[in-house]
Amino acid sequence: MAYQTISPATGEVLRTFAEISDQDLDATLTRAHECFSNDWRHRSIADRARVVSAAAAKLRENAEEYAQYLTLEMGKLINESRGEVALSADILDYYADRAAHYLKPQVITEAPDCVVETHPLGVIFGVEPWNFPYYQLARVVGPQLMVGNVVIVKHASNVPQSALAFARLFDEIDAPAGIYSNVFANFDQVGRLIDDFRVRGVTVTGSERAGAAVAERAGRALKKSVMELGGSDPFIVLEDAPLETTLDNAVWGRMNNTGQSCVAAKRFIVVGKQRGEAFLDGLVKRMGELKAGDPNDPLSRLGPVSSESAMRGLLKQIEVAKNAGARVALGGGRANRPGFYVEATVLTDIDENNPIYLQELFGPVACFYVVKDEEEAIKLANATPFGLGGSVFTGDVERGKRVAERIESGMTFVNQPTWTAPHLPFGGIKNSGYGRELSELGFGEFVNRKLISVSPVGSPPPSVSQAG
Ligand code: NAP
Repeated sequence: MAYQTISPATGEVLRTFAEISDQDLDATLTRAHECFSNDWRHRSIADRARVVSAAAAKLRENAEEYAQYLTLEMGKLINESRGEVALSADILDYYADRAAHYLKPQVITEAPDCVVETHPLGVIFGVEPWNFPYYQLARVVGPQLMVGNVVIVKHASNVPQSALAFARLFDEIDAPAGIYSNVFANFDQVGRLIDDFRVRGVTVTGSERAGAAVAERAGRALKKSVMELGGSDPFIVLEDAPLETTLDNAVWGRMNNTGQSCVAAKRFIVVGKQRGEAFLDGLVKRMGELKAGDPNDPLSRLGPVSSESAMRGLLKQIEVAKNAGARVALGGGRANRPGFYVEATVLTDIDENNPIYLQELFGPVACFYVVKDEEEAIKLANATPFGLGGSVFTGDVERGKRVAERIESGMTFVNQPTWTAPHLPFGGIKNSGYGRELSELGFGEFVNRKLISVSPVGSPPPSVSQAG
């Protein structure tokens, strides 16, 4: 595995970076651990907040430069890159502001002399993906630094300049050395880091394959882990949903980040034959208008996918789907230009024996289904190994909530596709993983909820029924 910038828009190899040596990896871990033990964990919340907010300010100050790295390395449309930079800075600021509230000791009502305090654990190790190269890091770093943990990240090998740029935020604000470290590690080194006693928690955002490998290793080393893995989110359209705004949401939900979002709407499930036909016509028309273009051009509507292997993998899935009986209602091939472009694609007639019925399609490909009623829609929505996000569109919000409650997912939205914000918990169930990032739930994943019980001086021993 090489850490390389390869332009997805042209296929050109632009820069290659050396992997970290074992010696430097150990020095990085030592520095991180010392920073945690001797400095960062002892700082006041206000002091930590100053550092995290300064990193956010630095990101905003250099927003355009930072946006360019994303577009260069993973082909994100430039306006979306700008949006990701802004969101990442907001996340850092949000946790700098909220930490004091989250860290308040909790008094136990039945025993006012007992409190639960929240303490950091130590070095948290993140294995992160390329699809939102700063947002994924901010999701870990904002909460973890504010808890008092320090962070080491192995980023995806195709976004090395974005990884270095994020690490630079902390160098440029004179943050204590070791609160945040980027390592260009190989998989053996990832394993060794997980095994090292100084690493106290592991978080992965990525595929089931990466999640299973890391979770297994973390389990053997008795480390807590959080897994943010793939998804195949349903987008349910009930018969009473308004067509036009639902279609607007469908295209946003599927095509944002060129379809390479874990919570993209991937399976469109429409109730009713007639409504299904009208919806499919609208979806094909709107997605067909998204023509491939240079991701640096703000007028481009469809960027490349992130890599040659991502493109080939997606085209293969489409081919297998076709051979198993799926119909291509739109696109289905490589766009006619250099780089790793896949046409905006809509697939229909997918039955349960088709391999893609159970697969995630990570790119600009929508799977379309028609069902007869709400019950069938819920059944199909849940017929997946994944359980990340999902959405329900309806003219009746109460009905939407009832359906949303029955979707097997970590997040379900009524009348909008799944989206993210600093204050909303993010994560899934089933093969989409476990644990949460963001919100108070994410903030509390790598902490010691520590009981302090105080009894008066000279107290007698506890009674026999109080022995643990
Ligand atoms: P990926 O191949 O799993 O890569 C993610 C990260 O894991 C990269 O840093 C990768 O390193 C590393 N990795 C892969 N295999 C590993 C192993 N055996 N041991 C240690 N590290 C390993 O995932 P991807 O294809 O880049 O990303 C797309 C997937 O991520 C999709 O399934 C998507 O839905 C999911 N995702 C989930 C969320 C969420 O929040 N739930 C968010 C975004 C993406 P290299 O780059 O060096 O291979």
